[in-house]
Amino acid sequence: MNGPASATNSAVSAATTAAATTPRATTAPAARTHPGGVAYSAPARKTRRVPVPRAWPLKDYDVYALLGGNALVILAMWIRHGNLHELATPAGIVTAVGEIAALYGTYLVLIQLVLMSRSPWLDHVFGQDRITAAHRWVGFGAIWLLFAHFIFTTVGYAMADGSSPVGEALNLLGTYPYVLWSGIALVLFVVVGVSSVRAARRMASYETWYTIHLYTYLAIALGFMHQLAVGVDFTTDLVARIYWIALYVLAAGTLLVFRFGQPIAVSGRHRLHVANVVQEGPSVVSIYLTGNELDRLAVRAGQWFRLRFLTSNGWWRAHPFSISAAPNGRYLRFTIKDLGDYTRLLQRVRVGTRVFVEGPYGIFTGARRTKAKVLLVAGGIGITPLRALLEELPAARGNMTLIYRASHESDVVFRHELDELASLRGATVHYLVGRRGSPDMPSDPLDPKALRRLVPDLQDRDVYVCGPAGMMERVLSGLHRLRIPESQIHYERFAF
Ligand SMILES: Cc1cc2nc3c(=O)[nH]c(=O)nc-3n(C[C@H](O)[C@H](O)[C@H](O)COP(=O)(O)OP(=O)(O)OC[C@H]3O[C@@H](n4cnc5c(N)ncnc54)[C@H](O)[C@@H]3O)c2cc1C
Repeated sequence: MNGPASATNSAVSAATTAAATTPRATTAPAARTHPGGVAYSAPARKTRRVPVPRAWPLKDYDVYALLGGNALVILAMWIRHGNLHELATPAGIVTAVGEIAALYGTYLVLIQLVLMSRSPWLDHVFGQDRITAAHRWVGFGAIWLLFAHFIFTTVGYAMADGSSPVGEALNLLGTYPYVLWSGIALVLFVVVGVSSVRAARRMASYETWYTIHLYTYLAIALGFMHQLAVGVDFTTDLVARIYWIALYVLAAGTLLVFRFGQPIAVSGRHRLHVANVVQEGPSVVSIYLTGNELDRLAVRAGQWFRLRFLTSNGWWRAHPFSISAAPNGRYLRFTIKDLGDYTRLLQRVRVGTRVFVEGPYGIFTGARRTKAKVLLVAGGIGITPLRALLEELPAARGNMTLIYRASHESDVVFRHELDELASLRGATVHYLVGRRGSPDMPSDPLDPKALRRLVPDLQDRDVYVCGPAGMMERVLSGLHRLRIPESQIHYERFAF
């Protein structure tokens, strides 16, 4: 057992190969330095030296009200144009379904643009997990509605003309202005949708999936013109045209400002570059970034950035990584495990490499806390945000507990730092190391009973969880079984 607290560490259960409880220490541990570049500095008692990200005065129901209100305006617009008369004939009904599907399918596409914008207010209100889930279902909803628009409009027109649906489709694509473009847009949307079905996504790398997703922008642009040129609601009503164009401008503007403008401004202002790379264990490195005015970069422990290392073989991709030390105004530290081709490259990134950053993102922070006491549950490399939270969360002595689960002793990173922090902050750390199902660990050390045994006052704590997908699902369902209220459970998934 390492660290200043090792003398009084004690085993937690026979099943854990390295479980320890770290008691109080009276003196702060000495700083540990690394050769070259920025050095790791021992945690201070008070670490909050940079501003916190802005808290937006918005709640989720404000956003739902806005979206619902707009949906009603769209329906009112359709009714105002006399389209209820269409419902008098079967052909009219089918065509009307096609028109409504077009309006709401496009509306969902515009909502998708906002969801893709990585806006800080959206992140603040919903968090990335909910945004990702919404992005997925809004995306599928939009594609189904646009597909329904194509089918119902074609069939409705064919019924009215007495022609065949195939002939009508060819007629629409060949003779109506910009309808061919919108046909191509629909094909692109369907390709993006198919690539996002879970089975297809598992087969493709993140980069392939992401590149296919970029076609969404082309599809949106291609679909736009036919709406104004042939859409029954827009050809004769200037107000409706202005309203529709305003929706596009708003959605595209949000995307441009937050997805492109803000990262350019942040990266330009702070000019981040790699100041040090430190091996933390097998296939795990800490990358220290420094730059200008880092004491003015608003970020909290638990948040993450999308990092784009400007190297000849990596500048074109950006991946998400959590900060692994509380913000200190001098450097940002990221600790990265080799889990694939890009993270393997990063193990050897050179000092001096410029880094373009997007963020910070995430609500896995102290801002969500509801209780005085906290339990942090980490698995594997999921320790990174929790290591930063252990350093930053204000907590009275004895109020903070960290459970760190790893399969092998070599997977435990930061053991020394965690022990230092635990000593300094009066926190308790339990290391649960071993293979589940092995003779040393016959049962899951994170099942509800084990959690309750390790942390008897679980009910009175906020619980922060980050780790591999399987572990997280087990811990989260265990917490639900223990009836920990949803508002006390916070988690970050390291997956897209
Ligand atoms: C919010 C968040 C914070 C993260 N923080 C850390 C961290 O502090 N330390 C760390 O080592 N890892 C972290 N990760 C995971 C890290 O982003 C992936 O391991 C990395 O992107 C893998 O890229 P790759 O090309 O090496 O591997 P790949 O072979 O492309 O992927 C390996 C795994 O990583 C996931 N992944 C790949 N690219 C992305 C991406 N751009 N966005 C989301 N998931 C992706 C895939 O689902 C796959 O399961 C975090 C992920 C997220 C979403």
